[in-house]
Amino acid sequence: MVFEDRSIPEDTRRTVNAVLARGRLPQSVMLSGGSQSLRESCGKELCMAALCAEPAEGAQIPCGRCHCCRKVLAGTHPDLVRVGPTGGRKTVSVADVRTQVLEGLYKSPTEAANKVYLFPEADFLSPQIQNALLKSIEEPPADVMFLFLCDQRESLLTTVISRLTEYPLGDTFSAAGRAEDENVTRIAGDIASALAKEDEYGLMLKTAPMAKNRALMARVAAKLTEIVRDALIEHSGARMLSGCDREALLLSMSYDPAALIRVKDAMEQITAGANANANENLLLTRFSSLLAVVMKERK
Ligand SMILES: [Zn+2]
Repeated sequence: MVFEDRSIPEDTRRTVNAVLARGRLPQSVMLSGGSQSLRESCGKELCMAALCAEPAEGAQIPCGRCHCCRKVLAGTHPDLVRVGPTGGRKTVSVADVRTQVLEGLYKSPTEAANKVYLFPEADFLSPQIQNALLKSIEEPPADVMFLFLCDQRESLLTTVISRLTEYPLGDTFSAAGRAEDENVTRIAGDIASALAKEDEYGLMLKTAPMAKNRALMARVAAKLTEIVRDALIEHSGARMLSGCDREALLLSMSYDPAALIRVKDAMEQITAGANANANENLLLTRFSSLLAVVMKERK
């Protein structure tokens, strides 16, 4: 479980795990502080929990295996709206919020029983946008969850914060969280680079720190998914998001898109497995062997 990551304050871990065990989530949620990758992975877990197709009565959510959970992990679930800027702008506009959120707010979900509106960088929402969302956050339709990921909670209006259930993931400027984030990015970048160079020994060496560390493996696999996604869009001119532009470029030069998609699928499986408490040694073996197989397809 992502919410067992030791860098998360114990209070938050206990509260969120109790909520997930009961199978019922609050409707307007903020994950604040911690590192960006921690916010992303915890956010994904809550999205899976909200959209999971197999929430047996009284059972733990998310299951991590159903088609809805898988689509959330792959970033392809139609009922998960990741609210983002359009038209080449860097920040979300009022018009974006209108078209992406408000216009469809009362429409039924497509596949799941619920819908999630995710604001991955809530720090950059203008006061005007926050005010436009205020009423919806206060009384969302019964099948809607709002989820705000936010580095510094102070960047949100107090009127907004007071309407959200907040789960702090760590200090806003937690040095430990930041160092952990950098560590994840470095390991994932090294693995991507070894893959691009068809360096099987390097790959083995770089995956070693993940032995017996399921949380680290989940986050490295998630970061690798981002790097491969960047590699796949490299030619489109779209903004790269993984923070590993060079490695993404190397991958895009070394592999056909079909092979890269296989890497992405493999990493999503690993993330799901690590989040679902699969055996660590088996996971690590799978991690390495999946990449070793793809390596044979290098151009
Ligand atoms: Zn599920």
